[in-house]
Amino acid sequence: MTVLIAGGGIAGLTLGLTLHQLRIPFHIFESVKAPKPLGVGINLQPTAVRELMEMGLANLLDSVGIRTRDYGFYTKTGVEIWTEPRGLDAGYNWPQYSVHRGEFHMALLKAVRDRCGADCITTGARVVGFANTDTGVSIRVDTEAGHHDVQDDMLIAADGIHSAIRAQMYPDEGAPVWGGAIMWRGTSLAKPFLTGASMILAGHDTHRFVSYPITDTDPKSGLAMINWIAEKTVDPTAGFVKENWNRQVDVDLFVDDFADWTFDWLDVPALIRAAGTVYEYPMIDREPVSWWTQGNATLIGDAAHATYPVGSSGASHAILDARILGAAFLKHGVGVKAAQTYEDHVRPLANRVTLANRGNGGPDAIMQMAEDRCQGDFSSLDTVLPYDERAAHALAFKKLAGLSVEGINGRAPIVPIAD
Ligand SMILES: Cc1cc2nc3c(=O)[nH]c(=O)nc-3n(C[C@H](O)[C@H](O)[C@H](O)COP(=O)(O)OP(=O)(O)OC[C@H]3O[C@@H](n4cnc5c(N)ncnc54)[C@H](O)[C@@H]3O)c2cc1C
Repeated sequence: MTVLIAGGGIAGLTLGLTLHQLRIPFHIFESVKAPKPLGVGINLQPTAVRELMEMGLANLLDSVGIRTRDYGFYTKTGVEIWTEPRGLDAGYNWPQYSVHRGEFHMALLKAVRDRCGADCITTGARVVGFANTDTGVSIRVDTEAGHHDVQDDMLIAADGIHSAIRAQMYPDEGAPVWGGAIMWRGTSLAKPFLTGASMILAGHDTHRFVSYPITDTDPKSGLAMINWIAEKTVDPTAGFVKENWNRQVDVDLFVDDFADWTFDWLDVPALIRAAGTVYEYPMIDREPVSWWTQGNATLIGDAAHATYPVGSSGASHAILDARILGAAFLKHGVGVKAAQTYEDHVRPLANRVTLANRGNGGPDAIMQMAEDRCQGDFSSLDTVLPYDERAAHALAFKKLAGLSVEGINGRAPIVPIAD
């Protein structure tokens, strides 16, 4: 009895580690032959950090990122709209981490190989389809040597936003949904701003900048690696190359759009110009769907619920999916009942978060409210967008996304804590 996992990304690797902890055999098929540390910064919410720490991965987190202290929203002129403490500073029993996605991914992969053995993952192996059988599931795997079929009890599709398994389940779905926003992403060695562990968003819906450090400040140079995302909404018919995390571009393509974003606490154009490689990526997600489980196959992570990267949701929810599914296997055994229990638990919340992140419900919506109501004169902020309204908006998202301090601190472990 082995659980077959398509995809060795954040969700697939966390599931592998969880199943190892539960002594449930598994095998991961990863399409990339030699995984590399790709991507830029991502955030891990305390609820996901709790899971990683309960898996004995606290040292891993400290080696690939920093503990985020606060999260602030600013106007396009650098006026503070709302700042709140994060992680331990907010009262959670676990920190929030800002990490380099690629280094975090590589560290998880190493943890899987170290703990479970190198032969529990096959790289260069793309899962291209599945069929339910009388006894479980049969998957088709493509490798350099050709394709072959593998039969076992259950398939978990953790194969990301372009999931082949989801495409088989939903043959008419097509490409991810793009609303016209383009993100240019990079990392720059620079002097950290505000607390030195601050995450900030400035601007509004169609023109904004996100930034946070992903390393501690080097005491000698006074510099840290700062992750940033410059974002603009463009004409969706303008012919941008979509759906690629790795399209490299020159900063001159967009830096002038931020030319006057020089605040007394952050010089945005200088930060952009200090970057090494810059990637262009369209802001895409997937339409929420009404089921993820088809017989002995189910979806987790981005394959199930790809969302805009605005609420620090993507990787955090992928980790929780893996843990909740593992707990369901522990309770019901590997099979349809466990998959359905996991889906019933996760899907309603995940779909709500996806929709909230698209519009008014996301935490960042406060920036457009400031833009609309102040009409360029941000000195009137307190009058037109009172403090209590800003506080209520921030609280509403935490409740919607299941991120309340009491809820996370007070819940029982999802799976038994590792020895
Ligand atoms: C290369 C890359 C870079 C990224 N960079 C960022 C970033 O900078 N910022 C950000 O917010 N998010 C980034 N993401 C997305 C982020 O990792 C996810 O949103 C989140 O972590 C959820 O993880 P996941 O495991 O569901 O998906 P992913 O992390 O996307 O992992 C999916 C895995 O499945 C593999 N795979 C795909 N198709 C198949 C198949 N048919 N068979 C077998 N394996 C398959 C992929 O190679 C990948 O390793 C990136 C994803 C990737 C793959």
